[in-house]
Parts: sequence; C-alpha cells; structure tokens
Amino acid sequence: MSAPAPQISAADPTTAELIAARPHLKRHAMDGLLLDGVPLNAIADALGTPCWVYSAPTIRRRLAELTQALAGLNTHIHYAVKANDHLAVLTLVRQGGAGADVVSGGELLRARRAGIAADHIVFSGVGKTAEEIRLALGEGIYQLNVESAEELATISAIAASMGRTADIVLRINPDVDAGTHAKITTGKADNKFGIAYGEAAALYAHAATLPGVRPQGLALHIGSQILSMAPYRAAFARAAELIRALRAQGQTVTRMDCGGGLGITYGDEAEASPAAFAGAIRAAFGGMDLTLMTEPGRWLVGPAGMLLASVVLNKAHDRFMVLDAAMNDLIRPAMYDSFHGVVPLAASNAGPDRVMDVVGPVCETGDTFARNRLVAPVEAGGRVALLDAGAYGTVMSSTYNSRPLAPIAMVDGGTWTVIRARQPVEALWSGEIIPDFTA
Ligand SMILES: *Cc1c(COP(=O)(O)O)cnc(C)c1O
Repeated sequence: MSAPAPQISAADPTTAELIAARPHLKRHAMDGLLLDGVPLNAIADALGTPCWVYSAPTIRRRLAELTQALAGLNTHIHYAVKANDHLAVLTLVRQGGAGADVVSGGELLRARRAGIAADHIVFSGVGKTAEEIRLALGEGIYQLNVESAEELATISAIAASMGRTADIVLRINPDVDAGTHAKITTGKADNKFGIAYGEAAALYAHAATLPGVRPQGLALHIGSQILSMAPYRAAFARAAELIRALRAQGQTVTRMDCGGGLGITYGDEAEASPAAFAGAIRAAFGGMDLTLMTEPGRWLVGPAGMLLASVVLNKAHDRFMVLDAAMNDLIRPAMYDSFHGVVPLAASNAGPDRVMDVVGPVCETGDTFARNRLVAPVEAGGRVALLDAGAYGTVMSSTYNSRPLAPIAMVDGGTWTVIRARQPVEALWSGEIIPDFTA
C-alpha cells in the first residue's frame, strides 16, 4: 500500500532561495554549503551529527545593525538571554555593547559570568523567587521589571530588609494582540504577563510610597516573532498615554522598556525591520525625555545558528526523510509548528525537489521538522542543515529518549572552534541514585 498523495499547503522556498536570502550562507561547487566561508561538512565530519553551528559574524552584524537603527534614541539594548544563553554568545553581545535581560537567577549568573556589568542587566519574569530577588539586589542590577502587585510587595520587603533601594519598572499588559503564535503571545489581557493596564497607575502611585523600591517607569513585552509594526505602535501608544497620566499626577517617570519580539525570516516572510522598530519607538516616546530600552532575543541570534543532521534513511517510498536529529535537540517545530529551512550540505542536489516529511527518530508523531515540505532529496548518510535555529534551539534541548545534548561549534574569521563538546552518555545518569531499598 502506498501513502496518500501529500498536499503542499503553500509554495515552499527552494534550496537556492533559502540560501540566497541568507548572507552568511553560500553553496560552493566543491565544498558544498558554507557558513561564513567554512564548509559545514568539515564541521560535521569532525563533530559528528547532530551538531549545532553558530556564526559569530552574524551575531555581531545584527547587533550592529540594530544599534545603528536605534542611534540617537537614548536606547539601551538588553539581549534576552533566554533565546541563547551560551557564554560565547553572551560575550559577543557584551562586546557589541549590549546588556542582558534575564528571567532567572541562573541567567543572571551566566550574564555576570560572561562579563556583562550588573548595571547593564534587567530582570523580567512573572515568578521571581525571593532567592532570585535577593541575588539581583545583591548584584546591584539596573532594574527589576515588576509583573504584579504581589511581587512589588515582596521586592519592597526584601530590599528594605537588605537596606537597599531597587530601581523598578512596572511591566504593564497593554492588551494588544501581537498577531503571532498563541504560545508566544504575551501582551493580551488573558496572558499571565504583566499588570493590567487599568490597574497600573494606582499601583505605580502605591510603589512610590513603599520602602526599598524606586519606581522609574514602565515595561512591556507583547510577544515573539512579531513581523508587523502595528501591534508595537498600539502598545507603545498605550504606554506613552500612561506615562503622561502618571506625570500629570506628579509621579517621576524616567524609563521605558519597550521589550523584544522582533521577528525573523524562517520561510519567505520579511523579517522585522530595525529601522521600522526604531521609528515606532521614536513616534511614541521621542521627545518624552526617557531612557529607553529594548530586549531583543530571537532577532539577534536566530539566523546565526543551525542544526546539522545526517539522513538515517528515507522510507515509505521516499515519503519520510528520517534524520539523526530529533525534537529533543530542536523542539520548535513540535511546540510552535515553526518552519525551519532544510538544506542539503552537499555541493549539489541529488535530484529534483520532492515533497516529504522530514522527521526525527523519537517515538512521538510530533517529532517532525517539516511536513509536506518541498525539499531536495538526500540519500542515507548525506547531511542537511536545519536553518535559523540560533534562538530557542539549544536552550530548549532536552535529553528525552536518553539522547545526549549535541555539541556546538562557532564559526568566525573563516575558521571554527568547538564551544561545547557532545555530552557523554554517562552524564545522562551520573546524578541518579539507585536507592538501597531496591537491593
Ligand atoms: C522572551 C522575552 C524577550 C525576547 O523575546 P524575542 O522574541 O526573543 O525577542 C524579551 N523580553 C521579555 C520580557 C521576554 O520574556
């Protein structure tokens, strides 16, 4: 019995189009797919697959482009560490002049370990624990982004007990729809994030009376992979209106944190433009005498990373291409139905593109990287790159199915280096204890 004829939902970009749209990628007639001039097959030969590869020049170039777009706006860039928290990535970000937006004590310590100054760190998140708040206050970070009245009370009490005064901003929930995937939208009233817009002014006035905290302004973050400026404009306008109202009531407002969320090209969508983003910020907050902040994650690092995998076999009359990478390595397709370009590492395609499902070996139907996708065929033993996996890739990896964490290489200056070795399989059980009562 043969599989039912697959349906292509939309015209997928071809291998050539995927490569042409990415300045860091080239296909060489002898060496195959190159990342910043380095043959990816050479890295896969040395490290085995699956493995990750990051492009340092791409991270530098994108940070410089965003910095340039925001020039003259008195804006600090705080890189959202959760997108990719590797120390080498954080080091590049620091060298590019950015600070860090962290959402856990672990991320705060990582950012410090990478040399990011405490006064260049902001702390976001709906459930900061007392321990994390104490850590942040002890380090003397730039600000805590407060997400609720309850958290405000906790921070005030802890800071007062430590004899500190914390600079805080209130993260408001502007109740706008970012028009992105439901699992990554964060600025609607029924999302768990931030303080209800209608309650923010009263809470701000209350914060100004509390010991241990100094309200400095507002923050918002409406979601991720946002491609249109309209939701930003709507959210920024609401924030600007609230700032004017607070000032009219005599409150001091010096800071506005505009969040992250800028979207990138995965398939053939146009990525969010830094110039347009800067324009939206300028339109809402220009001339308001504010220190402005942004928290980009995905936009800075997403295009800079890829996952290399080998084809284990093609089955069911070439309906399924089975890779040695799986959802435990890159969970985004399973979790968010996300698109990642699948490109052969070989110098030329083995045949005309055909419609296939590109899947991993894990025992879950969700372990599918691409469904009904027009891809270049790759024989068993050949390799592919899953593109644009630099953000929310390695950081979301697990060891599900007892699959060790894959190694990571970084490309720079025409050469490459290992920045994380493959996890030894013994490490998977090294912390486990078999209790005596099983004896
Ligand atoms: C996740 C997150 C970001 C970064 O989002 P991107 O879509 O990766 O730019 C910024 N700020 C906050 C508060 C976040 O939770």
